[in-house]
Amino acid sequence: MKPFAYVRATSVAEAARLLGAGSAAMAGGTDLLGLMKGGIAAPARVVDLTGIDGLRGWSRERGAGLRIGALTPLVDLETSDQLARHLPIVRAALADTATLQLRNAGTVGGNLLQRNRCWYFRDEAIPCWLKGGTRCFASEGENEHHAVIGTARGCNRVAPSDLAPALIAHDARVTLVGARGTRSIALADLYTDPALHSRDEHTIKRGEILTEVHVPEAGLQRRGTYLKAMERKTWSFAVVSVAAAARVRDGKLRNPRIVLGGVAPVPWRVEAAEAEIDGHPFSDELARRAADALLADAAPLAKNGYKVPLAKELVRRALAAIAAA
Ligand SMILES: Cc1cc2nc3c(=O)[nH]c(=O)nc-3n(C[C@H](O)[C@H](O)[C@H](O)COP(=O)(O)OP(=O)(O)OC[C@H]3O[C@@H](n4cnc5c(N)ncnc54)[C@H](O)[C@@H]3O)c2cc1C
Repeated sequence: MKPFAYVRATSVAEAARLLGAGSAAMAGGTDLLGLMKGGIAAPARVVDLTGIDGLRGWSRERGAGLRIGALTPLVDLETSDQLARHLPIVRAALADTATLQLRNAGTVGGNLLQRNRCWYFRDEAIPCWLKGGTRCFASEGENEHHAVIGTARGCNRVAPSDLAPALIAHDARVTLVGARGTRSIALADLYTDPALHSRDEHTIKRGEILTEVHVPEAGLQRRGTYLKAMERKTWSFAVVSVAAAARVRDGKLRNPRIVLGGVAPVPWRVEAAEAEIDGHPFSDELARRAADALLADAAPLAKNGYKVPLAKELVRRALAAIAAA
């Protein structure tokens, strides 16, 4: 690991000031430190955010939605029965996220901003496209865990966070604070559109700190569920995951959201797929039509074609679970 300076910020303003070029924010450190040890990240200065008060915990204000502080440890969300009553999808998504130790140390902001797990990207010796090289080694190489859709050109990574699809299904927004001010964006927009061919995975700007996740009142009215397929039962990223949420009345799913993890460089959502089921009485046939629309543009690589039928079946099961609940 390259030597670096360590600073523990005590306020968001101080952290924003310290996060100049060559600096990296650190929350739980469970991803950042691994990247540094692996030679993938080499910040000259690490700005520890954990000394900042006021960014932990969650609150619910009737009519104003639900707020989650970015430094909240994942385990605090997972174990809160009260939160599970307001937003059960969070517990469902975190149940199979990493390990208990990692959920203790890992935070909400860090989970949403973690880097991808492509083995070519994580190998210091491989100059892949995302690290400034000229090609994606997964295109022709070992690609069974890679993207089947939305890759445009350049990179076949998949979005790794379990929390992101779950929160996007409830229309979550995030607050980003920097030296130049505060902005609120849809959580979905935190992930860089692959069509832009950007070598940044996230749209957060240098010097910005993610302070809060906000789930609006309308998002909380949806019933949601999260299903995750893994290679083994624990300590494993999603091969495919689906977050689905909708308001359910008279057997009809209204204003639905279907968001996939593990299949695309970003949490994958297609509005036309949601329109297939919106306001119609639920049926397996309708769920299949939605799943087909969601994956209509899938173009699997040599070894990951299995993800397409797997994702479609998970979508069908998730929608059936919401309709039946
Ligand atoms: C073995 C293993 C298995 C895993 N399995 C899963 C899994 O199944 N599902 C899953 O979702 N995740 C999984 N993870 C990832 C894990 O959830 C993340 O490492 C963790 O959530 C990151 O949180 P952190 O607070 O430690 O982030 P850090 O490592 O501190 O930071 C991660 C990134 O976010 C940035 N950052 C952090 N907080 C902020 C903030 N508030 N503002 C601005 N930037 C910030 C950092 O600069 C860094 O780039 C796994 C990790 C490991 C090591």
